Amino acid sequence: MRDDTGAEISVSGVSKRYDGESGTTIALRDVSLTISPGEFVTVLGPSGCGKTTLLRLVSGLESPTSGDITVAGEPVKGPDPNRGTVFQAYHLFPWLTVQENVGFGPVELGVPDAERRDRVQEMLDLVGLSEFATAYPKELSGGMKQRVGLARALAVDPDILLLDEPFGSVDMQTRRRLQRELLDIWRDTDKTVLFVTHDIEEAVALSDRIVVLSGTPGRVRDTTVIEQSRPRDRSEQWFVDRVEGLFHRIEQNGL
Ligand code: ADP
Repeated sequence: MRDDTGAEISVSGVSKRYDGESGTTIALRDVSLTISPGEFVTVLGPSGCGKTTLLRLVSGLESPTSGDITVAGEPVKGPDPNRGTVFQAYHLFPWLTVQENVGFGPVELGVPDAERRDRVQEMLDLVGLSEFATAYPKELSGGMKQRVGLARALAVDPDILLLDEPFGSVDMQTRRRLQRELLDIWRDTDKTVLFVTHDIEEAVALSDRIVVLSGTPGRVRDTTVIEQSRPRDRSEQWFVDRVEGLFHRIEQNGL
C-alpha cells in the first residue's frame, strides 16, 4: 500500500457539455480549481449546478469537453481506485457481504490475501462495522451502508477521496455522526478530500475551503476559506454568521 499523503487535484478551464436527444446541456463552463494535498474542499451549490458532473470528471467516469484535470500531476484518463469515490446512493454490491464489498478494490488490485484481510479488518474497525463483516447490504441501515461505502473507498488507500452528497440518504443524527467520523478519518489519513453538497451547514462544519458553484451552466461563483479549528460548534456566532452569509450570497446570485 502507498503512503498516506494526499495528492493535489487540479481542474483547469474545464467545461462539460452533454448532447442528448432532448438537446444540449452545458453542465460546467470554464471551471478552475486547485486543491492542495491534504486539503478538505467542498463544492456547494443547488441541484443542477454541475456538482456531480465535476466529481465524475475528477473521478474519471466522464471526460471534459474542454480543459484539463490532473491528480498528483497526472492527467485523469479514466476511473482509478486511487481516486476513492463515495456516492449518495450507496452503490454497494448486494450479493457481496460487507467484508467482500470492502475487499473488492484490493482484490481487483491483486493485493495478497493476508494483506487484504488485514486491510479490510482495519477499515471495518475504522468505520465501526467489525461485527457486521459477514452481513449483506440489505441487512444494514442507511448510515451503515454509507460507512461501508466509505470503508470500501478507503480500502485501497487512495490518494484522494471524492464524496458526492454521501450523507444525503440518512437521518439528521446519523448525518452528524458520519460527518464527525469523516473528519476523524480525514485527520488520521491526511487524504485530499473533494466533497459535494447542497447543505450549507455541512459545508461550513467540514471544510477548509468552500467553492460555490452557480448554474446552469455551473461556474465558480465564490470561494470562502474557513480557518476555525474542528470540531466546529454550530451554535457559535461565527458559524451562524458564515452559514447566513453563504446563504445570502447564493440567493443574491439568483440560485
Ligand atoms: P448537481 O450535481 O449539481 O445536481 P449535475 O452535475 O447532476 O448537477 O447536473 C448538471 C446539469 O447537467 C443538469 O442540468 C443535468 O440535467 C445535466 N446532466 C447531468 N448528467 C447528464 C447526462 N448524463 N446527460 C445529459 N445531461 C446531464
